[in-house]
Amino acid sequence: MDALLVTHIPNIRYLTGFSGSAALLVVRRDATILITDFRYAAQAPAEAGASASVEVDQKSVWERLAKLLAAVPAEALGIEGQALTVRDAQRVSGLTRGRVVPTADLVERLRAVKSPEEVAAIRAAAALAQEALAEILPGVRVGQTELAIAAALESALRRRGSEWHPFPTIVASGLRSALPHARTSGRALGAGEWLLLDFGAEVDGYCADLTRTVIVGARADDKQRAVYELVRSAQHRALAGIRAGMTGREADALARDVITARGFGESFGHSLGHGLGLEVHEAPRLAPTAETPLPAGAVVTVEPGVYLPGWGGVRLEDDVYLSADGPVRLSDGRTELVELV
Ligand code: ZN
Ligand code: ZN
Repeated sequence: MDALLVTHIPNIRYLTGFSGSAALLVVRRDATILITDFRYAAQAPAEAGASASVEVDQKSVWERLAKLLAAVPAEALGIEGQALTVRDAQRVSGLTRGRVVPTADLVERLRAVKSPEEVAAIRAAAALAQEALAEILPGVRVGQTELAIAAALESALRRRGSEWHPFPTIVASGLRSALPHARTSGRALGAGEWLLLDFGAEVDGYCADLTRTVIVGARADDKQRAVYELVRSAQHRALAGIRAGMTGREADALARDVITARGFGESFGHSLGHGLGLEVHEAPRLAPTAETPLPAGAVVTVEPGVYLPGWGGVRLEDDVYLSADGPVRLSDGRTELVELV
């Protein structure tokens, strides 16, 4: 490739610092050029000026790209196959006289290895998320709706400095806790029910992702306690045993083997975790199908769960940094069973 056209916005932010929502980035050996529009005329040079030359086009970023490619032709122009739409790929083909070379995850692979500053931002986001949860849990009562609890949590997150919610907050109660990706609803909490909260925070563009499951309005019964302790011991084993250099499958198995040995393997139907950074789901993956080794420097979630339709579900999620010397938890890992009575 003579040049790589970067179109995935989180990749542009990673390479240049530009945090706007519309831009094209051309990376050549001799130059890095950020093309954006009128809305970012002040912001783009301020954020990205140190790492790229910024061109602001009043009409169309694509027309400006065409001019750039006419002035400095690329014989082979890379595009991001994992991010560019078919329509935009055709558009690029029409703008260049050279070959278009599809690539996959080039910048994502760089992003999987975090710098100390990135780790610090994720740690700060996790701290903020924990504090927000600790603030609102004492106010949770039987009869409140999932949406009301989500509103209280999101308010606490924002007041404590979260830049945005990296994904829609999941508050799932009772039987709905058995839905791994439940949509928060107007359902009111009943006594003795599970309350599952899966939520994030964002600091300097970097995401944290936490899940806690608590009991509301009563003490846990024997089955609730048994399932909870099973998920907790599976998570504990994975948090303690995960290492850079393992494959994503081996890391996943640390937790999955514990759950399967107790006969609940079928009830843990999702993967153990995912990378965390500028996006809430990024490389690497911890999954039975992930044969790639986890790089030293990755930040990943560890989130086993057991979901029993008609009964409820439990998931616990913490964030961990895979240093060369072993795993370093970025969230508090405080998962002793909480009974809000
Ligand atoms: Zn989550
Ligand atoms: Zn997650």
